[in-house]
Amino acid sequence: MNKLTTYTIKKIHKAYREKTLTPTSFVDLCLQNAKQNRDLNAFVTLTKGEAENNGIESEKRFYIDKKTKPLDGITIGVKDNFCTKDIRTSCASNMLKNFIPTYNATVYSRLRNAGACLIGKCNLDEFAMGAGTVDSIFGPTRNPWGYKECWRIAGGSSGGSAVAVSSGACVAAIGSDTGGSTRNPAALCGVVGLKPTYGLVSRHGLVPLVNSMDVPGIMTRKVEDAVNVLNCIAGPDNLDSTTIKRKFNPVTLDNDFDMSKIKIGIPKEYHCPGMSEDIIDTWKLVTNLLENEKASVQTVSMPHTSVSIAVYSILNQCEVASNMARYDGIEYGLRTEEDHSTEELYASSRSKGFNSVVRSRIFAGNYFLLTRNYEKYFLKALKLRRMIADDFKKVFKDVDILLTPTTLSDAPLYDDFVSKHNRDQCAFQDYCTQPANMAGVPAISIPIRLSINKLPLSIQLMGPNLSEELLLNVAKRIEMLVDFPSLEVN
Ligand code: GLN
Repeated sequence: MNKLTTYTIKKIHKAYREKTLTPTSFVDLCLQNAKQNRDLNAFVTLTKGEAENNGIESEKRFYIDKKTKPLDGITIGVKDNFCTKDIRTSCASNMLKNFIPTYNATVYSRLRNAGACLIGKCNLDEFAMGAGTVDSIFGPTRNPWGYKECWRIAGGSSGGSAVAVSSGACVAAIGSDTGGSTRNPAALCGVVGLKPTYGLVSRHGLVPLVNSMDVPGIMTRKVEDAVNVLNCIAGPDNLDSTTIKRKFNPVTLDNDFDMSKIKIGIPKEYHCPGMSEDIIDTWKLVTNLLENEKASVQTVSMPHTSVSIAVYSILNQCEVASNMARYDGIEYGLRTEEDHSTEELYASSRSKGFNSVVRSRIFAGNYFLLTRNYEKYFLKALKLRRMIADDFKKVFKDVDILLTPTTLSDAPLYDDFVSKHNRDQCAFQDYCTQPANMAGVPAISIPIRLSINKLPLSIQLMGPNLSEELLLNVAKRIEMLVDFPSLEVN
């Protein structure tokens, strides 16, 4: 990998100003990188023309207009479940294989307004349902770490976005996070993954999975880049009524951030069966680092953590059943040749359009929503969701930040992962990540060190709603202390 593609946004802009690098040449370099690493399958569509045009516009602003934008000449990848005008948005599903949106997701239009250059649309599990990026009609994504020796999964469902950043095809990528889909692949691919507070970043144009939990997520190599991207995309949006109405104050990082005032909580229930020794050691290592920095660290309890997987599954499937109803082959999505009756057309289009993961979630969700089951499953799950959220509210009266692992292990081998079924793995792999979605709180995954398999191991920080500034400052401090090694690929 060319060293330039590991530069931070600040360093790239400095090089542009000094003319040791130009936006157009950097865009070319990233496109070349993406092409060379095609076998990683990070992108479902490379947007060469778009990237080149965006690069030319940035170059003009740098050298002719001398009026630059915050992400000018900064290459990005966008998960293929965010609408991009005139660029196919497939959700990695046969259902939307030929869908060309007529409008942009707010996140993408804000990135473009800030000068970012789109390298391509990134691979995902179909409709973002998964934890491996192994269930895409375009084939699985490979983790660039150790991929020459054996094939490890990239994590999911935003695996394409994580790989696009870690393999140097772009500086930042957008994923979506409903139960961990940004943090999980970021952790397994050794990049930073930020899930902002629910409602801080607009969902307009993000194809919904679970409306009450979906949040656009940010992946970058370094925390400071995640801050720069967040500052460009966050804030109220008239097109999404669930965005927080309050004006967004840009996050600033403090180089002399004082950890001695920070109270860190270690929730004991996040120790769960199946967590690897390597992960537990990494968790301890970061705890010790923070104690050395004079932060006060205490064990805390979040008693409803262990039910959160079950609660998440029920709520997820119920919302999926309702969200997916729009794909009937008439209003939206793939239409088969079936012409016996409207019902048969619906049935054949939906069975050909969706994979078995999507179909079984629709099936289970409709079962939970039957009049006779509604109270027993859906209402009960909603009540438990409230109790999980209350655990967070209570714990944040005593501590400022929670420290937990992100995933339970380093990146699993592809064969192991698929033989254990993506569906079951979703429940297992998201143990530490999805409570934050249930409560709506912000969370970030930061790479810490390499495992005995020489694969990234990461930890997660979570904070109260709208505590992004604190969360990112603590994350930055940890990043400085651990100095995680960069990946070497082609
Ligand atoms: N693995 C979880 C699921 O399949 C999370 C997905 C996501 O965050 N998009 O539901």
